[in-house]
Amino acid sequence: MKPRRPCSHPSCPELTSDRYCDKHQKQVTQEYDRRRGSAASRGYGSRWRKASKRFLEEHPLCVACEREGKLTPSKIVDHIKPHKGDMMLFWDESNWQALCKRCHDIKTAREDGRWG
Ligand SMILES: [Zn+2]
Ligand SMILES: [Zn+2]
Repeated sequence: MKPRRPCSHPSCPELTSDRYCDKHQKQVTQEYDRRRGSAASRGYGSRWRKASKRFLEEHPLCVACEREGKLTPSKIVDHIKPHKGDMMLFWDESNWQALCKRCHDIKTAREDGRWG
């Protein structure tokens, strides 16, 4: 028999042989899962990092600069149509374009409505 002691949750009177009583153990586990889930969905994750790296290797020049006859190394994979969280659009490579930082900033600023 393990000694029973009060639940580690502040002001919970339950005695338990674990860190938390059953109720609070569940709560703590849920909270942990929730946080871990949001950390993975925050940003694009490693899958996107890998995919965009490969895309930039295949498209080493900024397409917007290329249209103006300039040759600039691409740095960022941009979504031509803003995906707004739509995963189909997000992973659709026909919706991707390689941009340099400057062109990406200009496009983002335009989409945010700060320009024009
Ligand atoms: Zn408790
Ligand atoms: Zn450019």
